Amino acid sequence: MREILIVVPGPGDEAAELTAAARSLGEVRVTAAVFGADEEAAADLAGLCERVVVFPAAPGGVFDGEWAAAALTPWIAAEQPFLVLLAHGNDALDLAPLLAARTDRPMLSDCLEIGLRDGRLVGVRPLHGGKVRARVAAVEAAGYLATVRPGAYPAAAAAAAAGQVVEGPAPTGFSPRREFVGAVAAEAGEVDITQAEVLVAVGRGIEEEENLDLIRSLAEALGAEVACTRPIVDKGWLEKSRQVGTSGRTVKPKVYLAIGVSGSFQHLGGLKGSPFLAAINQDPAAPIFAAADVGIVGDLFDLVPLLEEKIRERRG
Ligand SMILES: Cc1cc2nc3c(=O)[nH]c(=O)nc-3n(C[C@H](O)[C@H](O)[C@H](O)COP(=O)(O)OP(=O)(O)OC[C@H]3O[C@@H](n4cnc5c(N)ncnc54)[C@H](O)[C@@H]3O)c2cc1C
Repeated sequence: MREILIVVPGPGDEAAELTAAARSLGEVRVTAAVFGADEEAAADLAGLCERVVVFPAAPGGVFDGEWAAAALTPWIAAEQPFLVLLAHGNDALDLAPLLAARTDRPMLSDCLEIGLRDGRLVGVRPLHGGKVRARVAAVEAAGYLATVRPGAYPAAAAAAAAGQVVEGPAPTGFSPRREFVGAVAAEAGEVDITQAEVLVAVGRGIEEEENLDLIRSLAEALGAEVACTRPIVDKGWLEKSRQVGTSGRTVKPKVYLAIGVSGSFQHLGGLKGSPFLAAINQDPAAPIFAAADVGIVGDLFDLVPLLEEKIRERRG
C-alpha cells in the first residue's frame, strides 16, 4: 500500500480535498502533517486519514516554510512516503520547492488532476492562464511531491475509523535565513470580501470605470459585495482589497457571479469551497465557462440590467 503525506494547515477544506486527491490514486495510507495543531484540530484531522503527525509550530506562531521544511525533511527521509501533497496556495509556494529540493523529489505544481502511469506520478496542469492544459509526467523516482489546485477535488468525507495522532519532533539545528518581523494590519476601511456569502465579481469586460455602477447596483439588489479581477485594480478602478486571485484575496462565498471575467487560473485560484459559480461572458470559449455551474453567453450591458430588474421584482 502506498504511503501519502499531506501537509495541511489544520482540519478543513484543504485537508479534505488533499485526502480525496490522495485516495484517487488507489489503495493508499494517508498521513497528515500539521504544525502546532491543538488536540481538537488533530482529532478532526484523524477523522479523515490513517495518521496525523503534529509538529511543533514555528517560533512566532505563524506558518513558516523554512521551519516546516526543516521539520519535514528528516521525517520524509525516514518514512519515505511515495508522495507528498500540498494545496497550491501561499504556504505551498513557500514550502513545496524547498521540500522538493531538500528531499530530491520531482515536483508537479498546481495540478488539477493527479494520477499514476507505470508507477510514476502524472498530472494535469493549466498553461497560458488556463486556456490550455498540459499533461506532465514526473521522471521515475522513489518518491514524488505535488501541489494540487484548491477546489480541484471534492472534499473527502470522514473515514469510518479515526487514525492515530502522534507528535513529530521539532527540527534540530534550525538555522533560518530569514526572520518573521511582524504582521501588517490591513488598511482601515478596507472591505472584507472573504466574509461575503454572495460576491459579484467584475472583470475587464466592463470596459469603463463609470460602467462599474451597473455592477454596484446589481450587487446591492443581491445583497452582495463587489469583487474584481486584477486588471480592474491595476487600472485603479477598485481597491486591492476587492481583488480575488492568487495575488489577491482568497474567498469562500456561497454564490459567485462573474461578469466580464475571462476565468484565468490566477483569478479562479482565489475561489475556495466550491461556490455556486455563475458567469456572464460574450465569448463562448472563455475559460470561466469550464468552471461555471451556470453560464450565460451574451453582452453584459444587456444582461446585467435585465438580471437586476428580475432580482428586484422577485425580492419585491
Ligand atoms: C503573477 C500573476 C498574478 C496574477 N494574479 C491575479 C489575481 O490575483 N487575480 C486576477 O484576477 N488576475 C490575476 N492575474 C492576471 C490574470 O492572468 C488575468 O490577466 C486576469 O485575471 C484577467 O482579468 P479579466 O478576466 O478581467 O480580463 P480579460 O482576461 O481581458 O477578460 C475579460 C473578459 O470579458 C469578456 N467581455 C468583454 N466584453 C464583454 C461584454 N460586453 N459582455 C460580456 N463579456 C465581455 C471577454 O470575453 C473576456 O473573457 C495575475 C497575473 C500574473 C502574471
